[in-house]
Amino acid sequence: MRIEIINTGTELLLGQTLNTHGAWLGAELFKLGLRVARQTCVPDGVAIRDELLSALGRADVIIVSGGLGPTSDDLTREITAEVLGLELLQDAAALVSLEAFFALRGRPMASDNLKQVLIPRGAVVLPNANGTAPGVYVPPQLAGPAQAAIFLLPGPPRELYPMFKGEVAPRLQALSGVATPPDLIELKFTGIGESDFHQTLDARLAAIPNLEFGYCARIGEVDLRLIGSAAALHQARALAVERFGPLLVSDDGSSLEQTVVRLLTERRWTLATAESCTGGLIANRITDVAGASAVFTHGFVTYANAAKCGLLGVAPEALAAHGAVSEAVVRQMAEGALAVSGADFAVAVTGIAGPAGGSPDKPVGTAWIAVAQRDRATRAFSVFQPRNRADFKQGVSQAALDALRRCVLERRPESLLG
Ligand code: AMP
Ligand code: MG
Repeated sequence: MRIEIINTGTELLLGQTLNTHGAWLGAELFKLGLRVARQTCVPDGVAIRDELLSALGRADVIIVSGGLGPTSDDLTREITAEVLGLELLQDAAALVSLEAFFALRGRPMASDNLKQVLIPRGAVVLPNANGTAPGVYVPPQLAGPAQAAIFLLPGPPRELYPMFKGEVAPRLQALSGVATPPDLIELKFTGIGESDFHQTLDARLAAIPNLEFGYCARIGEVDLRLIGSAAALHQARALAVERFGPLLVSDDGSSLEQTVVRLLTERRWTLATAESCTGGLIANRITDVAGASAVFTHGFVTYANAAKCGLLGVAPEALAAHGAVSEAVVRQMAEGALAVSGADFAVAVTGIAGPAGGSPDKPVGTAWIAVAQRDRATRAFSVFQPRNRADFKQGVSQAALDALRRCVLERRPESLLG
């Protein structure tokens, strides 16, 4: 079943509103075992006519969002009726709902709103409990030779989402006859590039029957997306784990910080952070996870040298001899945070975000990361991530959280639980 989406709205093309309907509808349709073949975005007004005409030549299902409002640039209803050669008639039940909508709010109804209850002859009104514009379903037999099912949905998300779930999804399920949608899993990996996957896994994954796979690269993370039968997913997951097991962060969509909090919680271990260049981002990511209070004790943001010395006990001599971005200092930050907090683990970062402050031996993008833990040697390493400030912070926090994840996994839980 070929599904096409037409999103209308000049604000979407001016970049004033992000076209979230495209993404949202794609995800919802996938849950039904359906795919979007094409998605287009057109401005308000008459532009929808051409787009609708061309979609009618290809699609089995056309979903249009927006343009059902009372104003003169909202023409979705009118143009759809015109293109299909269907007369627009006032729908009595829709008019009652519209009047009730205004009565409930104690507001007079403008005469412009009346056009919202004009429905193409024979089409089905999709009730809208959250706004004034009812949706419209034009069944395939009304769409002339094209035989496409057409859904016209209101633009505001709080109106479109419930209407899709309540009125559109059940009709699509009936039209498509898909009983069991394929499964999807997403394996999140850190510390590896997209190209590593390509070279080592592509050919072997391609040989698995009934499997569709793809990659999505993010900062410090690559997601391997697997779609197919349960057996195909099992086989593909095993291949990826055999090759890259220690780099696997999650296979259930959990973020790196969710995984870290889960691992610490399961082991009843606690964590403190000491951050310079990430400005608290690591602590922020940890505390984004519900239940973080079970593991997170202290977050130090020690941006100035004086703060590193005063709060974490970093030696002024180490700063003078090696500079703030150095192995010696990051180790002392992590060990200081561990000592002050009494936590089981402490992770520390210090680096040069730029654009100023770099030097030939420490260029912008350099960062040092350390993980200290009770009764174990501190680990420290450097990374080089020459990016803009926001991406640098994200990348360094990612490397630090991943180092922490690995240290937690390496430590035998019994040694602490007794
Ligand atoms: P409309 O029904 O076209 O008048 O849409 C009205 C509201 O819905 C405005 O706030 C729009 O910005 C919002 N909206 C319309 N289309 C989209 C879309 N594709 N993604 C996100 N918001 C949208
Ligand atoms: Mg609009």
